[in-house]
Amino acid sequence: MEQTNLLEEFMNLSNEAEELSAKVAGLKDAVTAVLEQNAELRMNNGRLRERIEQLTAEQDDAEPTVVEHTAEAGMSKSRKNLEKIYMEGYHVCSKFYGQHLEPGESCAFCTDILYGERQR
Ligand SMILES: [Zn+2]
Repeated sequence: MEQTNLLEEFMNLSNEAEELSAKVAGLKDAVTAVLEQNAELRMNNGRLRERIEQLTAEQDDAEPTVVEHTAEAGMSKSRKNLEKIYMEGYHVCSKFYGQHLEPGESCAFCTDILYGERQR
């Protein structure tokens, strides 16, 4: 009778040890999965950080150029409008503004306004 109890106790303990071993193995898999995921997220995070820095640097490089272009386009656009008026035969200079030019006539004040700044 005593021996039967001893065997039973041993079997119970053995089963518990197996269960515990299985639980430990399961936990080990879970920890490994979390660590792998963590490493992957770290890599993605690093890549995204690099991309953001790259884009920010590109934007910093691009911004002054954009402003420059806009200012230049605005100037040349208004000058083009003046040139168009001048070509249609009207003064665009402050001295004779709006007055009619004779066909073939040119005005030094007008050409200075239209082309003077560019020659400088
Ligand atoms: Zn003029």
